Amino acid sequence: MYMYETTYHRPTTLTDAVTLHSEVDEPAYLSGGHTLIPTMKGRLAAPANLIDVRRIPELSGITVTVDRVVIGSATTHATVAASSEIVAAIPALAGLAGSIGDVQVRHVGTMGGSVANNDPAADYPSAVLSLDAIVHTDRRAIPADDYFTGLYSTALEQGELLVRIEYKVPEIAGYAKFRNPASRYAMAAAFVSKHRDGSVRVAITGAGNAGVFRWTEAEEALQGSLDPRALKGLSVDPDTLMGDMHAPADYRAHLVAVMTRRAVENLGRARID
Ligand SMILES: Cc1cc2nc3c(=O)[nH]c(=O)nc-3n(C[C@H](O)[C@H](O)[C@H](O)COP(=O)(O)OP(=O)(O)OC[C@H]3O[C@@H](n4cnc5c(N)ncnc54)[C@H](O)[C@@H]3O)c2cc1C
Repeated sequence: MYMYETTYHRPTTLTDAVTLHSEVDEPAYLSGGHTLIPTMKGRLAAPANLIDVRRIPELSGITVTVDRVVIGSATTHATVAASSEIVAAIPALAGLAGSIGDVQVRHVGTMGGSVANNDPAADYPSAVLSLDAIVHTDRRAIPADDYFTGLYSTALEQGELLVRIEYKVPEIAGYAKFRNPASRYAMAAAFVSKHRDGSVRVAITGAGNAGVFRWTEAEEALQGSLDPRALKGLSVDPDTLMGDMHAPADYRAHLVAVMTRRAVENLGRARID
């Protein structure tokens, strides 16, 4: 099977990338290409112009301060996982990056590509939501609570380029993931953070029928006590969850509860198993 003909562009400035996107026919930004290229091969997408964003300096780099971790969107999962600064500031975030796919996937796939794509089984959306991050684009700053709008759907507008993500450094955070044994995507995963203002945010990925979501009942339970026993008896409504060939919704509901408990047990750890 052949792909449709496409023109490859490699801009080196943010302005050039955004301008190009507004001028050419049927454009698409290309980052790691681990989602976009297979989609093109399967003829589910046929952009006439691919705009590779990986050579734009503003889209790379990691900056860690006392209360923020800022990561350029073209940063690979492997770079995040290996960053000693991120391991020190938010161990769970480094652990999440290290849990993605396999070693080849982690060296090519990028954080920005993942968050722009918003696959319901992707790992990063849970960290963005739980860590109350801000998604910075070429034109605005979008709070995490306003960013995810449904399956494969985000607040990004046509041509809007995700530049970097600013994560809040929490007091403590933990991540746990039940992997699909074939792809290693999440069948259910939970990211739990306690922030310095005392708030607790629990984000669930891999399970929701509208993608990543905050599990507010778990947040309220953990607000009182950051202890896995505080979650006893809590469950999510299977009607709000995905059911597919990998797992029916009621099994995912069970996994969500177990992964949330494990995320609390993993608080402060970079290793998530
Ligand atoms: C075998 C395999 C296993 C995987 N396992 C996991 C897993 O366990 N967990 C997980 O979370 N992910 C997993 N992934 C996904 C992978 O790690 C990438 O995160 C994902 O493919 C998207 O990132 P990318 O850089 O490849 O984006 P691309 O494929 O380049 O782009 C994806 C989409 O985002 C858009 N886009 C890209 N960059 C930007 C930007 N800066 N601004 C705006 N739009 C942009 C593109 O136009 C496209 O629509 C897996 C992938 C494969 C192939």
